Amino acid sequence: MTQDIKRRKTRVVKVGTVCVGGAYPIAIQSMTKTKTSHVLETARQIRQLQDAGCEIVRLAVKDNKDAEAITKIKKLATIPLVADIHFDWRLALRAIECGADKIRLNPGNISAEAHIREVVQRAKKAKIPIRIGLNSGSIRKSGTQVKVMMESCCRYIRVFEKLKFYDTVISLKASDVRTTIEAYRRMAGICDYPFHLGLTATGSPFKGAVQSSIAIASLLLEGIGDTIRVSLTDDPVQEVRTARYILEALGLRRFGPRIISCPTCGRCQVDLVTIVKKLERALERSQMTRAFRIAVMGCEVNGPGEAMDADIGIAFGRKEGLLFKNGKPLRKVSLRESITVLLEEMRRMHD
Ligand code: SF4
Repeated sequence: MTQDIKRRKTRVVKVGTVCVGGAYPIAIQSMTKTKTSHVLETARQIRQLQDAGCEIVRLAVKDNKDAEAITKIKKLATIPLVADIHFDWRLALRAIECGADKIRLNPGNISAEAHIREVVQRAKKAKIPIRIGLNSGSIRKSGTQVKVMMESCCRYIRVFEKLKFYDTVISLKASDVRTTIEAYRRMAGICDYPFHLGLTATGSPFKGAVQSSIAIASLLLEGIGDTIRVSLTDDPVQEVRTARYILEALGLRRFGPRIISCPTCGRCQVDLVTIVKKLERALERSQMTRAFRIAVMGCEVNGPGEAMDADIGIAFGRKEGLLFKNGKPLRKVSLRESITVLLEEMRRMHD
C-alpha cells in the first residue's frame, strides 16, 4: 500500500480560469514556440497544446507587437495566457493592458525596485498574479546558485509584500537536477506561495524528459509543486505529454486510458512496439476520458497476470492474443484485429 502524497500547504492563486495551489490539481503548463505577434500561428499552437492537455500557456513577449497580440490571441484561446517578460518591465505593463492572465518576471534581468513596483501595482489593479521566475542562466552574481536564486527571489517577495501583493507564484529553475531540487526545497521552508516546477535548458528531448521527470517527480513526491512545465528542445506538445505522464505515474492526476506494456524480450513473438504505438494513436483519436488501465503484453509469462490486473488487456502469443476484461479471460483474438477489439470493448465499458 503506497502512502498518499501530502501536499505542501500553499496559497491559492487564480490564473484566469485555473486555480493554482492549495488542494487544486497540479496544473500542466507549456510555452508556445511561435513568434507571439504571429497571432494565427500562435493560436493554432495553443489549440494543439490544449488538445494535448495543457492548462496554462506562456507566450514570449519580446516587444510591443508581441504584447499587443495578446488581445487578439485571447479571443482565439480558451486557456489562460501568461506573458513571459525579460529585460523590459514596460512590456509587462503593456501585456497587462492587453489582457494577460498572468505575468512572469525574471529577477535575473529586471532588478530596479521602481520597475518591479510599477508592474506589481498594475497587476494588483488588474487582479492578475505574477510569477517570480528565477532562472539560473540569467543570474550572474557570485555565490552558490541556490543561495543567489533564493536571495533574488526573496528580494522580489519583499517588494511585493510591501505593496500587499500576495498573488505570487515562484519558480527556481536551474539546468541541473540537484540544484533545482535543493532550491525548491529550501524555498518551500520559508514561504507558502505556490510553486511552478521545472528545469531549464534540459537538452535533447529524451535527456530532457528524463532530467525533468527526476527533478519534478522528486519534488512532487515531497508534496512540493503546484504547476509544472517540462522544457524540451522539441515540439511543445511533447512537453505536455511528458508532464501528463509524470503526474499519472505518481498517481496525482488521471487523464484517460493508460497503456501498461511490457518492454518485450526474446520470448515476444509479435511486433509489440508497433502495436503499442498504433494503440496510443487510436486512443488519442478516440477521445475516451475514462481512466482505463490497458495491459498490452508480449507473451504468456507476465502477460496474463498484468492483463488480469488491468481493466482490459491482451497477452500475445504467436499470431493471436488472449483478451482479458475486468480480470477474466474473454476470448482469443487474432493479431490483426487486436487493436480494434480492444477499442470496441473499451467503448462498451465507456458508454
Ligand atoms: S511479458 Fe513476455 S515478452 Fe514481455 S518482457 Fe515479459 S517475458 Fe518478455
